[in-house]
Amino acid sequence: MPALPPPTLIVRNIGELLTMGADRGVPAASGPLGIVRAAVVAARGAQIIFAGPAAEFEQLTCAPSDVPATIIDAGGGVVTPGLIDAHTHLVFAGDRAGEFQQRHAGASYAAIQAQGGGIAGTMRATRAAGYGDLVALARQRLRSMRAHGTTTVEAKTGYGLDRATEDRLLAVAAHFAWEPELPRVVPTFLGAHVVPPEDQADRAAYVARVRDDWLPAFAGRARFCDVFCEQNAFTLAETRSILQTARRLGYGLKLHAEQLSRTGGAALAAELGATSADHLDHASDADLDHLAAAGVVGVLLPGCAFTLNAPYPAARRLLAHGVRVALATDFNPGTCYCENLQMMVALAVAHMGMTLPEALLAVTRHAAAALALDDCGTVAPGLRCDLALWNIPRHDQIGYHFGVNLVAGVVIGGQPMIS
Ligand SMILES: [Zn+2]
Repeated sequence: MPALPPPTLIVRNIGELLTMGADRGVPAASGPLGIVRAAVVAARGAQIIFAGPAAEFEQLTCAPSDVPATIIDAGGGVVTPGLIDAHTHLVFAGDRAGEFQQRHAGASYAAIQAQGGGIAGTMRATRAAGYGDLVALARQRLRSMRAHGTTTVEAKTGYGLDRATEDRLLAVAAHFAWEPELPRVVPTFLGAHVVPPEDQADRAAYVARVRDDWLPAFAGRARFCDVFCEQNAFTLAETRSILQTARRLGYGLKLHAEQLSRTGGAALAAELGATSADHLDHASDADLDHLAAAGVVGVLLPGCAFTLNAPYPAARRLLAHGVRVALATDFNPGTCYCENLQMMVALAVAHMGMTLPEALLAVTRHAAAALALDDCGTVAPGLRCDLALWNIPRHDQIGYHFGVNLVAGVVIGGQPMIS
């Protein structure tokens, strides 16, 4: 047996280790989830150096180290990769609880907007909030996500809708690189969320500002550029011109596509080689074929359907067309105020016809693909040691035992964060 470098972290007594694929070189991993029973994961620094059967780990000699490894006893429970939330609107101020109650009492979104609610309401609260307030709000939400097993979070701008505030939202997302005990934040620029009220009279000028001024100014600070391609947001032509510029500037591409109506956003995502197309409720069969052929990940957001009492996304259609499916919270103050990916797995299994393995891959391996990340989402040597440690004896409790937190703690970049 070869010698291992000295581990700094050993997670032992794992009843079920879900590596999320038998193809990643982990010994004894089997089935679609690459399950290893009676397993150990060891890390050195941020990186996994061993994952596999405990019996095999015990055969290895570890090089001597002056620093004793931190040992975590998983108590015979389940360990998975840290969960990945590939679509959130993390940074905003204010909430819209009143609007939620009004909507379920029968008020239309148009009526709520007429009272100053909706996205414009969040935009005003966000513009009025200082950098420190926004950091504090985002930190609180990231802690909640982490408590529920999430270790990587995509965070969109899009509640500033002016240059200074969009800049501030990107700075808030970037701040969390200095708080490595929190989930890793992947920033996305969504200046094209909606046209803000003050620009309604000249939307072309707003689109030109996003494309020709903000996109070059923010290049390198956001990993992705996203556009809300929809009837009341941005047309297909506007979306195309913004995303083509973004691609030229080095942004990865995402789209809010076919959410409320069919606009052609999904086909555009395929044509431009977007990393993901999100929502997709009204995508046609041909759209789904294009997405599958182009390798675009479909990100589905069942928390919105739950909140709005709307039909759930048609996951089985995507899967039948060969589209890789990720599940995300869409955490935002209007249509899904929920940090918990476990809940999305429960909704996907109970209401979208996804199998539990499909749903678990959708919040790990496929969610990593939706963020173009190749260092997380599975458990294997060489990858980041991002883990979720579950308080359950078998993974079939996930989704079935719902509405409570089944995660006991996480490991982020090799650092245990047990609550
Ligand atoms: Zn969204």
